[in-house]
Amino acid sequence: MTAPIRPLLLAAALWALATLAAKAGAHHSYAIDLAWEPETGTITGAVTIEEPQGDVSLPDEDWLNPESLQLGGTQVALADTRTIPAAVIAGRSLTLSFRGTLPDLDGTPRAIGTDPAGSFLIGAAWLPLDDRARHRFRISLDVPATHRAVATGSRIAQTQAEGRIVSRFVFDGLPQDLGLFAGPYTVAQRKAGELILRTYFETAQADLSQSYMDAAGRYVARYAQQISPYPYDSFSVVSAPIPVGLGFAGLTYVSRAILGHPYMRGRSLAHEVLHSWWGNAVGVDYDSGNWAEGLTTYQADHALAQDAGNGAARQMRLDWLEALAHLPAQADKPLRAFRSSAHDGQQAVGYGKAALVFHMLRAEIGGAAFSDAIRRFYATHRGGIAAWPDLQAAFTDAAGRDLSWFFDQWLDRAGLPRLSLAEAARTGDRALRVTIRQSAPAWRLTVPLRVNTAQGPETHEITLDRPATTATITTRAAPLSVSLDPGFDLARQLLPGETAPGFADLFRAEDAAHWVAPGPDDMQAAADRLLGRLFGAAGLPASKRDTLEDRAALVVIGDTGAVAGMRDKLIADPRPWPADTGTARAWIERRKSGDVVLFISADTAEGLDGPLAQLRYFGPRSYVAFRDGEQIEAGTWAVTDSPMVRALD
Ligand SMILES: [Zn+2]
Repeated sequence: MTAPIRPLLLAAALWALATLAAKAGAHHSYAIDLAWEPETGTITGAVTIEEPQGDVSLPDEDWLNPESLQLGGTQVALADTRTIPAAVIAGRSLTLSFRGTLPDLDGTPRAIGTDPAGSFLIGAAWLPLDDRARHRFRISLDVPATHRAVATGSRIAQTQAEGRIVSRFVFDGLPQDLGLFAGPYTVAQRKAGELILRTYFETAQADLSQSYMDAAGRYVARYAQQISPYPYDSFSVVSAPIPVGLGFAGLTYVSRAILGHPYMRGRSLAHEVLHSWWGNAVGVDYDSGNWAEGLTTYQADHALAQDAGNGAARQMRLDWLEALAHLPAQADKPLRAFRSSAHDGQQAVGYGKAALVFHMLRAEIGGAAFSDAIRRFYATHRGGIAAWPDLQAAFTDAAGRDLSWFFDQWLDRAGLPRLSLAEAARTGDRALRVTIRQSAPAWRLTVPLRVNTAQGPETHEITLDRPATTATITTRAAPLSVSLDPGFDLARQLLPGETAPGFADLFRAEDAAHWVAPGPDDMQAAADRLLGRLFGAAGLPASKRDTLEDRAALVVIGDTGAVAGMRDKLIADPRPWPADTGTARAWIERRKSGDVVLFISADTAEGLDGPLAQLRYFGPRSYVAFRDGEQIEAGTWAVTDSPMVRALD
């Protein structure tokens, strides 16, 4: 569901008809028969739409050469036109036969392509298409017995003869959610109750199979319990030659390069498993907005972070708010306008902001009503496609009250509220008064407040619906300090000083420069190599020693001792951590001027050649340390002077 694939554009009226047909549970057959040579990417195929509805558009793909067109079994001329009118089809089945060689991968993610490590056809661009949204696809994939093929949906048969292996699948869904995959795979398989778990990995990755099947089985059981039984009979993890992690009906297609990463088996796999419910069993009406990424991110990524404890969920919400804070102005669109993550910046809205909206909705109506709404929504729309108003209806029913203000505000308004703690004062032994201001026009918000008292923290709430709200709060013990939204539970603008500096602040800076600390030749050469990896061929301009103090954004890199010495010259505050943690490390500090300095140092040249090259992936963090290539620490500095915290005297 993160594929850079555009949904099919249909006339609104026809789309509405198709939606009705899908909701009525009508499934019209679509047969796909391919003889596929994954080593070369050559395909000989036939696609049949058994009862086409409306006009049929034929594919216009450079790699695909139509060979014949049949209507009701009778050959007709292949005209130049790409559209076969309904009047010509006259209720007959339509079969397009073709040949083609899938395009070689050129290193960029694409929907259709081939590589010795795998061939794939994702989405609908290569199919003849009628006006219907959902179909029942009957798929037959014939590949050499040295390879295996897999498709979205359920595998219903597999036969092997004369050096070929033929696998058959049934998939109920939207053409754009279809995926066909083939490669030099070794298949591992296991039953978990009724469910069949499979991995399609290259031989070299086979030792990862068991842990993937363990994890996938766990996630399927988790979401079955939370939502409804798993909608397919199997779940497969398929190794991909492209840098993606995509969720489909009953399978996920994951870059071979990241299969070995624990992150993939954790949060990413959970996310892709959950897409079997959200985005597949319940399809997305893309023309009216994509709700599935936000709901999947909230119920998978965020819920796992909550399970992990230790502030991981709070950090995740803060990461989302940081991404929203740095959204380019043209990407700051209402959530309802989000379609897919193909465009830069859209991820911050369609995933992060959307997940925060579900988080606030849960706080608004309570956990029980939230779970009830999720189940209702699934039960009503399984096998169909759903849109934001369908979610709104399910949540409204479950809550038993009008939520239109909530959905209107969060789906149709761009930007985020900006809150500030205008006043906080003790008004008695066990009372305080708080004034919160917000940007106009005002948002309707329930703001969590934490009051630290002589006997521990208390949680309170203030409801806002105007530019300034003053509330008096009664506490159980003497109030000492108050903090506004300390858990980052609201989708709102972050204020300067509310967050610690993160590596991303340096990578985002427009006029950063670098300075290599004096040291042995091999250290200096390694520092230059690392700068090249982090900042690309253009690199960062070098700064002279005597202008370092004036730089708005600076990287100081090199030997451990020399970098520590320069750090103390540039920043008067005590060091936030030992500058010799591990054997290689990076940390970022904000100077009084607001300027940021990124310090990167290592004990040896090998240290600079190691995993520090991945520093961009630690974007929101303030520090990371490695010992002999292994990460030993990573985190964010504590914030000591947030404008959202006020001491009470
Ligand atoms: Zn997703």
